[in-house]
Amino acid sequence: MSEANQYDVLIVGGGIVGLTLACALGDTRFKVGIIDAYEPGDVSKDDAYELRVSAISRASQQVFQNLNAWQGMQTRRISPFEHMHVWDSTGSGVIHFDAAELGVDALGHIIENKVVQAALLEQLKLLNNIEWICPAQVEDINYQAEQSSVTLSDGKELTTRLLVGADGANSRVREAAGISIDKAPYDQKGVVCVVKSTKHHQLTAWQRFLPTGPLAFLPLGDGSCSIVWSATSDEADRLVGLDEETFSRELEQAFEYTLGAVESIGARAAFSLIRRHATNYVLPGLALIGDAAHTIHPLAGQGANLGILDAASLAQVLVEADQQKQSFSSHAILRKFERWRRGENTIMMYSMSGFKNLFSNEQSLLSSFRNFGLNLVNSIGPVKHKFMRHAMGLEGDLPDIAKTVGV
Ligand SMILES: Cc1cc2nc3c(=O)[nH]c(=O)nc-3n(C[C@H](O)[C@H](O)[C@H](O)COP(=O)(O)OP(=O)(O)OC[C@H]3O[C@@H](n4cnc5c(N)ncnc54)[C@H](O)[C@@H]3O)c2cc1C
Repeated sequence: MSEANQYDVLIVGGGIVGLTLACALGDTRFKVGIIDAYEPGDVSKDDAYELRVSAISRASQQVFQNLNAWQGMQTRRISPFEHMHVWDSTGSGVIHFDAAELGVDALGHIIENKVVQAALLEQLKLLNNIEWICPAQVEDINYQAEQSSVTLSDGKELTTRLLVGADGANSRVREAAGISIDKAPYDQKGVVCVVKSTKHHQLTAWQRFLPTGPLAFLPLGDGSCSIVWSATSDEADRLVGLDEETFSRELEQAFEYTLGAVESIGARAAFSLIRRHATNYVLPGLALIGDAAHTIHPLAGQGANLGILDAASLAQVLVEADQQKQSFSSHAILRKFERWRRGENTIMMYSMSGFKNLFSNEQSLLSSFRNFGLNLVNSIGPVKHKFMRHAMGLEGDLPDIAKTVGV
Protein backbone atom coordinates (compact mmCIF):
# COMPACT_ATOMS: atom_id res chain seq x y z
CA MET A 1 0.00 0.00 0.00
CA SER A 2 1.30 3.46 -0.89
CA GLU A 3 2.12 5.77 2.02
CA ALA A 4 -0.33 8.31 0.59
CA ASN A 5 -3.24 6.11 1.67
CA GLN A 6 -2.04 5.61 5.25
CA TYR A 7 -3.30 7.88 8.03
CA ASP A 8 -2.79 8.32 11.75
CA VAL A 9 -6.42 9.37 12.17
CA LEU A 10 -9.15 8.66 9.62
CA ILE A 11 -12.52 10.29 10.30
CA VAL A 12 -15.60 8.89 8.57
CA GLY A 13 -18.20 11.69 8.37
CA GLY A 14 -17.69 15.36 7.55
CA GLY A 15 -20.77 16.72 9.35
CA ILE A 16 -20.41 19.43 12.00
CA VAL A 17 -18.77 17.02 14.45
CA GLY A 18 -16.27 15.29 12.14
CA LEU A 19 -15.16 18.64 10.71
CA THR A 20 -14.67 20.05 14.22
CA LEU A 21 -12.38 17.15 15.13
CA ALA A 22 -10.40 17.48 11.89
CA CYS A 23 -9.85 21.23 12.45
CA ALA A 24 -8.90 20.63 16.10
CA LEU A 25 -6.19 18.22 14.90
CA GLY A 26 -4.81 20.84 12.50
CA ASP A 27 -1.14 21.76 12.77
CA THR A 28 -0.36 18.66 14.82
CA ARG A 29 1.99 15.79 14.01
CA PHE A 30 -0.97 13.61 12.95
CA LYS A 31 -1.74 12.85 9.34
CA VAL A 32 -5.54 13.10 9.21
CA GLY A 33 -8.05 12.10 6.54
CA ILE A 34 -11.75 12.99 6.65
CA ILE A 35 -14.25 11.29 4.35
CA ASP A 36 -17.75 12.36 3.37
CA ALA A 37 -20.14 11.20 0.69
CA TYR A 38 -21.33 14.74 -0.10
CA GLU A 39 -19.82 18.22 -0.43
CA PRO A 40 -21.86 20.35 1.98
CA GLY A 41 -22.07 23.32 -0.42
CA ASP A 42 -22.08 26.94 0.64
CA VAL A 43 -24.75 29.43 1.64
CA SER A 44 -25.12 32.92 0.28
CA LYS A 45 -26.99 35.75 1.99
CA ASP A 46 -29.80 35.71 -0.60
CA ASP A 47 -30.53 31.98 -0.25
CA ALA A 48 -33.65 30.85 1.60
CA TYR A 49 -32.86 29.60 5.13
CA GLU A 50 -32.01 25.91 5.40
CA LEU A 51 -34.32 23.54 7.28
CA ARG A 52 -31.53 22.16 9.49
CA VAL A 53 -30.40 24.73 12.03
CA SER A 54 -28.77 24.35 15.45
CA ALA A 55 -28.80 26.50 18.55
CA ILE A 56 -25.03 26.84 18.94
CA SER A 57 -24.01 27.29 22.59
CA ARG A 58 -21.40 29.74 23.90
CA ALA A 59 -19.09 26.76 24.54
CA SER A 60 -19.36 25.63 20.90
CA GLN A 61 -18.86 29.24 19.76
CA GLN A 62 -15.65 29.31 21.77
CA VAL A 63 -14.49 26.10 20.07
CA PHE A 64 -15.18 27.62 16.65
CA GLN A 65 -13.38 30.84 17.63
CA ASN A 66 -10.31 28.87 18.67
CA LEU A 67 -10.43 26.98 15.36
CA ASN A 68 -10.65 30.31 13.44
CA ALA A 69 -13.97 29.23 11.93
CA TRP A 70 -16.31 31.60 13.80
CA GLN A 71 -15.56 34.53 11.53
CA GLY A 72 -16.52 32.43 8.49
CA MET A 73 -19.88 31.76 10.12
CA GLN A 74 -20.37 35.45 10.96
CA THR A 75 -19.63 36.54 7.40
CA ARG A 76 -22.14 34.02 6.04
CA ARG A 77 -25.06 34.42 8.48
CA ILE A 78 -25.73 33.72 12.14
CA SER A 79 -28.62 34.82 14.34
CA PRO A 80 -27.86 35.75 17.94
CA PHE A 81 -30.49 35.31 20.63
CA GLU A 82 -30.38 37.55 23.67
CA HIS A 83 -33.31 35.98 25.52
CA MET A 84 -34.82 32.56 26.12
CA HIS A 85 -38.47 32.38 27.12
CA VAL A 86 -39.93 29.03 28.18
CA TRP A 87 -43.47 28.49 29.40
CA ASP A 88 -45.96 25.77 30.16
CA SER A 89 -49.26 25.52 28.30
CA THR A 90 -51.09 24.01 31.28
CA GLY A 91 -50.37 26.60 33.97
CA SER A 92 -48.61 29.81 34.85
CA GLY A 93 -45.01 28.46 34.90
CA VAL A 94 -42.59 30.76 33.07
CA ILE A 95 -38.83 31.08 32.93
CA HIS A 96 -37.02 33.89 31.18
CA PHE A 97 -33.27 34.12 30.60
CA ASP A 98 -31.63 37.39 29.61
CA ALA A 99 -28.07 37.76 28.28
CA ALA A 100 -27.80 41.16 29.98
CA GLU A 101 -28.14 39.48 33.39
CA LEU A 102 -24.85 37.70 32.66
CA GLY A 103 -23.25 40.71 31.03
CA VAL A 104 -22.91 38.97 27.65
CA ASP A 105 -24.16 40.07 24.25
CA ALA A 106 -25.94 36.78 23.40
CA LEU A 107 -27.00 33.53 25.08
CA GLY A 108 -26.22 31.64 21.88
CA HIS A 109 -26.72 31.72 18.10
CA ILE A 110 -29.06 29.98 15.71
CA ILE A 111 -26.95 28.81 12.78
CA GLU A 112 -27.77 26.67 9.77
CA ASN A 113 -25.85 23.37 9.85
CA LYS A 114 -24.68 24.13 6.31
CA VAL A 115 -23.12 27.44 7.44
CA VAL A 116 -21.21 25.69 10.25
CA GLN A 117 -19.94 23.06 7.82
CA ALA A 118 -18.94 25.58 5.14
CA ALA A 119 -16.94 27.72 7.59
CA LEU A 120 -15.18 24.72 9.15
CA LEU A 121 -14.38 23.32 5.72
CA GLU A 122 -12.94 26.64 4.60
CA GLN A 123 -10.60 26.53 7.60
CA LEU A 124 -9.78 22.85 7.16
CA LYS A 125 -8.55 23.47 3.61
CA LEU A 126 -5.83 25.74 5.01
CA LEU A 127 -4.39 22.94 7.15
CA ASN A 128 -1.55 20.97 5.55
CA ASN A 129 -1.88 17.82 7.67
CA ILE A 130 -5.59 17.30 6.92
CA GLU A 131 -6.95 15.75 3.74
CA TRP A 132 -10.60 16.26 2.73
CA ILE A 133 -11.65 13.09 0.91
CA CYS A 134 -14.95 14.02 -0.72
CA PRO A 135 -17.18 13.06 -2.42
CA ALA A 136 -16.36 9.51 -1.35
CA GLN A 137 -18.80 6.83 -0.27
CA VAL A 138 -17.51 4.32 2.28
CA GLU A 139 -18.12 0.86 0.85
CA ASP A 140 -16.44 -1.41 3.39
CA ILE A 141 -14.78 -1.08 6.80
CA ASN A 142 -12.39 -3.62 8.26
CA TYR A 143 -11.86 -2.71 11.91
CA GLN A 144 -8.65 -4.04 13.53
CA ALA A 145 -7.17 -2.84 16.83
CA GLU A 146 -3.72 -2.06 15.36
CA GLN A 147 -4.67 -0.86 11.88
CA SER A 148 -8.12 -0.56 10.31
CA SER A 149 -8.90 -0.20 6.62
CA VAL A 150 -11.67 1.61 4.80
CA THR A 151 -12.58 0.82 1.19
CA LEU A 152 -14.23 3.57 -0.85
CA SER A 153 -16.74 2.98 -3.64
CA ASP A 154 -14.04 3.72 -6.27
CA GLY A 155 -12.07 0.74 -4.88
CA LYS A 156 -9.43 2.85 -3.12
CA GLU A 157 -8.27 1.41 0.21
CA LEU A 158 -7.21 3.67 3.09
CA THR A 159 -5.56 2.47 6.30
CA THR A 160 -5.39 4.14 9.70
CA ARG A 161 -4.13 3.69 13.25
CA LEU A 162 -7.20 5.40 14.67
CA LEU A 163 -10.58 5.12 12.97
CA VAL A 164 -13.14 7.71 14.10
CA GLY A 165 -16.87 7.29 13.48
CA ALA A 166 -18.44 10.73 13.03
CA ASP A 167 -20.90 9.31 10.53
CA GLY A 168 -24.15 10.14 12.26
CA ALA A 169 -26.96 8.23 13.94
CA ASN A 170 -26.81 5.19 11.65
CA SER A 171 -23.03 4.93 11.88
CA ARG A 172 -21.37 2.35 9.62
CA VAL A 173 -18.20 2.59 11.72
CA ARG A 174 -20.13 1.68 14.87
CA GLU A 175 -21.73 -1.25 13.07
CA ALA A 176 -18.42 -2.50 11.60
CA ALA A 177 -16.84 -2.44 15.07
CA GLY A 178 -19.77 -4.46 16.48
CA ILE A 179 -20.68 -1.77 19.03
CA SER A 180 -24.32 -2.00 20.08
CA ILE A 181 -26.61 0.88 21.07
CA ASP A 182 -29.21 1.38 23.77
CA LYS A 183 -32.15 2.75 21.86
CA ALA A 184 -35.36 4.29 23.23
CA PRO A 185 -37.71 6.05 20.83
CA TYR A 186 -39.31 9.14 22.35
CA ASP A 187 -42.43 8.17 20.31
CA GLN A 188 -42.18 11.62 18.77
CA LYS A 189 -41.16 13.31 15.57
CA GLY A 190 -39.86 16.87 15.25
CA VAL A 191 -41.60 18.91 12.53
CA VAL A 192 -39.25 21.62 11.23
CA CYS A 193 -39.85 24.56 8.93
CA VAL A 194 -39.09 28.27 8.53
CA VAL A 195 -42.01 30.62 9.28
CA LYS A 196 -42.60 34.34 9.09
CA SER A 197 -44.94 35.84 11.69
CA THR A 198 -46.51 39.27 11.88
CA LYS A 199 -44.50 40.18 15.02
CA HIS A 200 -40.69 40.26 15.22
CA HIS A 201 -39.08 37.51 17.30
CA GLN A 202 -37.27 40.09 19.51
CA LEU A 203 -34.02 38.09 19.37
CA THR A 204 -35.64 35.50 21.63
CA ALA A 205 -35.56 31.70 21.51
CA TRP A 206 -39.13 30.78 22.46
CA GLN A 207 -40.33 27.41 23.69
CA ARG A 208 -43.86 26.47 24.75
CA PHE A 209 -44.40 23.10 26.42
CA LEU A 210 -47.59 21.48 25.15
CA PRO A 211 -48.89 18.16 26.56
CA THR A 212 -48.00 16.61 23.18
CA GLY A 213 -44.40 17.95 23.19
CA PRO A 214 -42.44 21.22 23.05
CA LEU A 215 -42.89 23.82 20.30
CA ALA A 216 -39.85 26.05 19.70
CA PHE A 217 -39.55 29.26 17.63
CA LEU A 218 -35.85 30.00 17.01
CA PRO A 219 -34.98 33.50 15.72
CA LEU A 220 -33.35 33.95 12.30
CA GLY A 221 -31.54 37.00 10.95
CA ASP A 222 -34.27 38.18 8.55
CA GLY A 223 -36.94 38.26 11.30
CA SER A 224 -38.33 34.82 10.46
CA CYS A 225 -38.11 31.81 12.79
CA SER A 226 -37.04 28.21 12.43
CA ILE A 227 -39.59 26.09 14.27
CA VAL A 228 -39.23 22.65 15.85
CA TRP A 229 -42.63 21.24 16.76
CA SER A 230 -42.29 17.94 18.61
CA ALA A 231 -45.39 15.77 18.57
CA THR A 232 -46.43 12.12 18.57
CA SER A 233 -45.42 10.46 15.29
CA ASP A 234 -49.02 10.29 14.01
CA GLU A 235 -49.67 13.92 14.91
CA ALA A 236 -46.40 15.03 13.27
CA ASP A 237 -47.28 13.19 10.06
CA ARG A 238 -50.70 14.87 10.11
CA LEU A 239 -49.08 18.30 10.59
CA VAL A 240 -46.69 17.76 7.67
CA GLY A 241 -49.61 16.65 5.48
CA LEU A 242 -51.79 19.72 6.17
CA ASP A 243 -52.20 22.42 3.53
CA GLU A 244 -50.25 25.63 4.28
CA GLU A 245 -53.24 27.63 5.41
CA THR A 246 -54.48 25.03 7.94
CA PHE A 247 -50.95 24.39 9.21
CA SER A 248 -50.36 28.11 9.76
CA ARG A 249 -53.60 28.52 11.72
CA GLU A 250 -52.86 25.46 13.91
CA LEU A 251 -49.30 26.68 14.49
CA GLU A 252 -50.24 30.19 15.60
CA GLN A 253 -52.88 28.73 17.90
CA ALA A 254 -50.47 26.18 19.44
CA PHE A 255 -48.08 29.11 20.02
CA GLU A 256 -50.81 31.24 21.63
CA TYR A 257 -50.35 33.97 18.97
CA THR A 258 -47.19 34.98 20.87
CA LEU A 259 -45.66 36.32 17.64
CA GLY A 260 -49.02 37.18 16.10
CA ALA A 261 -50.31 35.45 12.99
CA VAL A 262 -48.19 33.22 10.75
CA GLU A 263 -47.79 35.01 7.41
CA SER A 264 -45.83 32.45 5.40
CA ILE A 265 -44.19 29.08 5.83
CA GLY A 266 -41.46 27.20 4.00
CA ALA A 267 -41.12 23.51 3.20
CA ARG A 268 -41.85 21.15 6.11
CA ALA A 269 -40.06 17.96 7.16
CA ALA A 270 -40.36 15.60 10.12
CA PHE A 271 -37.47 13.83 11.87
CA SER A 272 -37.97 10.79 14.12
CA LEU A 273 -36.75 11.55 17.62
CA ILE A 274 -34.86 8.64 19.14
CA ARG A 275 -32.58 8.51 22.16
CA ARG A 276 -29.58 6.37 21.26
CA HIS A 277 -26.46 5.73 23.30
CA ALA A 278 -23.59 3.51 22.13
CA THR A 279 -22.57 0.93 24.74
CA ASN A 280 -18.92 1.86 24.07
CA TYR A 281 -17.50 5.08 22.62
CA VAL A 282 -14.09 3.47 22.09
CA LEU A 283 -12.26 0.25 21.30
CA PRO A 284 -8.51 -0.06 20.75
CA GLY A 285 -7.82 1.99 17.59
CA LEU A 286 -11.43 3.27 17.30
CA ALA A 287 -13.59 6.10 18.66
CA LEU A 288 -17.17 7.30 18.10
CA ILE A 289 -18.20 10.96 18.41
CA GLY A 290 -21.37 13.02 17.89
CA ASP A 291 -24.57 11.35 16.70
CA ALA A 292 -22.63 8.12 16.01
CA ALA A 293 -22.25 7.82 19.81
CA HIS A 294 -25.51 9.44 21.03
CA THR A 295 -28.70 11.16 19.88
CA ILE A 296 -31.03 13.10 22.19
CA HIS A 297 -34.33 14.99 22.12
CA PRO A 298 -33.92 18.41 20.44
CA LEU A 299 -35.91 20.21 23.15
CA ALA A 300 -32.84 21.89 24.64
CA GLY A 301 -31.00 22.10 21.31
CA GLN A 302 -27.95 20.21 22.58
CA GLY A 303 -27.27 17.35 20.09
CA ALA A 304 -24.72 19.14 17.92
CA ASN A 305 -23.25 20.96 20.94
CA LEU A 306 -22.52 17.67 22.73
CA GLY A 307 -20.88 16.34 19.56
CA ILE A 308 -18.72 19.46 19.19
CA LEU A 309 -17.49 18.97 22.77
CA ASP A 310 -16.83 15.26 22.03
CA ALA A 311 -14.66 16.34 19.08
CA ALA A 312 -12.75 18.98 21.08
CA SER A 313 -12.21 16.55 23.99
CA LEU A 314 -10.99 13.72 21.76
CA ALA A 315 -8.53 16.05 20.02
CA GLN A 316 -7.20 17.21 23.40
CA VAL A 317 -6.72 13.63 24.64
CA LEU A 318 -4.94 12.58 21.42
CA VAL A 319 -2.61 15.60 21.35
CA GLU A 320 -1.72 15.27 25.03
CA ALA A 321 -0.96 11.54 24.59
CA ASP A 322 1.27 12.29 21.62
CA GLN A 323 3.11 15.05 23.50
CA GLN A 324 3.76 12.58 26.33
CA LYS A 325 5.04 10.02 23.78
CA GLN A 326 2.17 7.64 24.56
CA SER A 327 0.33 5.60 21.93
CA PHE A 328 -2.61 7.85 21.02
CA SER A 329 -4.67 4.97 19.58
CA SER A 330 -4.30 2.64 22.57
CA HIS A 331 -7.36 1.62 24.55
CA ALA A 332 -5.99 3.19 27.74
CA ILE A 333 -5.72 6.63 26.11
CA LEU A 334 -9.05 6.42 24.30
CA ARG A 335 -10.75 5.34 27.53
CA LYS A 336 -9.79 8.75 29.00
CA PHE A 337 -11.93 10.35 26.30
CA GLU A 338 -14.77 7.89 26.89
CA ARG A 339 -14.85 8.36 30.68
CA TRP A 340 -14.79 12.13 30.20
CA ARG A 341 -17.54 12.45 27.64
CA ARG A 342 -19.85 9.56 28.58
CA GLY A 343 -20.46 11.13 32.00
CA GLU A 344 -21.24 14.58 30.54
CA ASN A 345 -23.46 13.20 27.76
CA THR A 346 -25.37 10.86 30.08
CA ILE A 347 -26.32 13.72 32.40
CA MET A 348 -27.68 15.72 29.45
CA MET A 349 -29.52 12.74 27.91
CA TYR A 350 -31.33 11.83 31.11
CA SER A 351 -32.21 15.42 31.93
CA MET A 352 -33.76 15.75 28.45
CA SER A 353 -35.79 12.53 28.91
CA GLY A 354 -36.85 13.71 32.38
CA PHE A 355 -37.91 17.12 31.04
CA LYS A 356 -39.80 15.54 28.18
CA ASN A 357 -41.69 13.19 30.53
CA LEU A 358 -42.35 15.87 33.12
CA PHE A 359 -43.78 18.26 30.55
CA SER A 360 -45.79 15.71 28.60
CA ASN A 361 -47.68 14.66 31.72
CA GLU A 362 -51.07 16.26 32.25
CA GLN A 363 -51.57 14.87 35.76
CA SER A 364 -52.58 17.91 37.80
CA LEU A 365 -50.09 17.32 40.64
CA LEU A 366 -47.16 17.10 38.20
CA SER A 367 -48.45 20.08 36.27
CA SER A 368 -48.67 22.18 39.48
CA PHE A 369 -45.23 20.97 40.52
CA ARG A 370 -43.53 21.96 37.24
CA ASN A 371 -45.26 25.33 37.14
CA PHE A 372 -44.16 25.95 40.72
CA GLY A 373 -40.62 24.76 39.83
CA LEU A 374 -40.36 26.99 36.74
CA ASN A 375 -41.47 30.06 38.68
CA LEU A 376 -39.18 29.20 41.59
CA VAL A 377 -36.12 28.87 39.35
CA ASN A 378 -37.08 32.10 37.64
CA SER A 379 -37.20 33.98 40.94
CA ILE A 380 -34.02 32.77 42.66
CA GLY A 381 -30.98 34.55 41.25
CA PRO A 382 -28.17 32.00 41.88
CA VAL A 383 -30.29 29.01 40.74
CA LYS A 384 -31.31 30.86 37.61
CA HIS A 385 -27.71 31.84 36.97
CA LYS A 386 -26.73 28.14 37.17
CA PHE A 387 -29.53 27.20 34.73
CA MET A 388 -28.41 29.90 32.30
CA ARG A 389 -24.83 28.65 32.39
CA HIS A 390 -26.13 25.13 31.63
CA ALA A 391 -28.17 26.41 28.70
CA MET A 392 -25.08 28.18 27.37
CA GLY A 393 -23.04 24.97 27.64
CA LEU A 394 -20.66 26.51 30.18
CA GLU A 395 -21.16 23.98 33.01
CA GLY A 396 -19.37 20.65 33.36
CA ASP A 397 -15.84 19.55 32.54
CA LEU A 398 -15.11 21.44 29.32
CA PRO A 399 -12.20 20.81 26.95
CA ASP A 400 -9.63 23.63 26.94
CA ILE A 401 -10.71 25.13 23.60
CA ALA A 402 -14.34 25.44 24.83
CA LYS A 403 -13.53 27.41 27.97
CA THR A 404 -14.63 31.04 28.10
CA VAL A 405 -13.61 33.58 30.66
CA GLY A 406 -15.73 35.96 32.65
CA VAL A 407 -19.27 34.52 32.26
C1 LIG B 1 -35.33 18.39 14.50
C2 LIG B 1 -33.94 18.50 15.05
C3 LIG B 1 -33.50 19.71 15.61
C4 LIG B 1 -32.21 19.82 16.17
N1 LIG B 1 -31.84 21.00 16.74
C5 LIG B 1 -30.61 21.10 17.33
C6 LIG B 1 -30.17 22.29 17.99
O1 LIG B 1 -30.88 23.30 18.06
N2 LIG B 1 -28.93 22.30 18.57
C7 LIG B 1 -28.12 21.21 18.55
O2 LIG B 1 -27.02 21.27 19.13
N3 LIG B 1 -28.49 20.07 17.92
C8 LIG B 1 -29.70 19.98 17.31
N4 LIG B 1 -30.08 18.82 16.69
C9 LIG B 1 -29.13 17.69 16.63
C10 LIG B 1 -28.05 17.91 15.56
O3 LIG B 1 -28.64 18.18 14.31
C11 LIG B 1 -27.15 16.66 15.44
O4 LIG B 1 -26.80 16.23 16.75
C12 LIG B 1 -25.89 16.97 14.66
O5 LIG B 1 -26.16 17.48 13.39
C13 LIG B 1 -25.04 15.68 14.51
O6 LIG B 1 -23.87 15.97 13.78
P1 LIG B 1 -22.90 14.78 13.34
O7 LIG B 1 -21.79 15.47 12.59
O8 LIG B 1 -22.57 13.92 14.52
O9 LIG B 1 -23.74 13.84 12.38
P2 LIG B 1 -24.39 14.15 10.94
O10 LIG B 1 -24.81 15.55 10.83
O11 LIG B 1 -25.41 13.08 10.72
O12 LIG B 1 -23.15 13.95 9.92
C14 LIG B 1 -22.71 12.68 9.52
C15 LIG B 1 -21.94 12.85 8.21
O13 LIG B 1 -21.41 11.55 7.84
C16 LIG B 1 -21.57 11.36 6.45
N5 LIG B 1 -21.65 9.89 6.22
C17 LIG B 1 -22.47 9.02 6.85
N6 LIG B 1 -22.27 7.78 6.37
C18 LIG B 1 -21.32 7.87 5.42
C19 LIG B 1 -20.70 6.93 4.55
N7 LIG B 1 -21.02 5.61 4.58
N8 LIG B 1 -19.77 7.36 3.68
C20 LIG B 1 -19.40 8.68 3.65
N9 LIG B 1 -19.96 9.62 4.45
C21 LIG B 1 -20.92 9.22 5.31
C22 LIG B 1 -22.86 12.09 6.10
O14 LIG B 1 -22.89 12.48 4.73
C23 LIG B 1 -22.82 13.30 7.05
O15 LIG B 1 -22.22 14.42 6.44
C24 LIG B 1 -31.34 18.70 16.13
C25 LIG B 1 -31.77 17.49 15.55
C26 LIG B 1 -33.05 17.38 15.03
C27 LIG B 1 -33.51 16.07 14.44
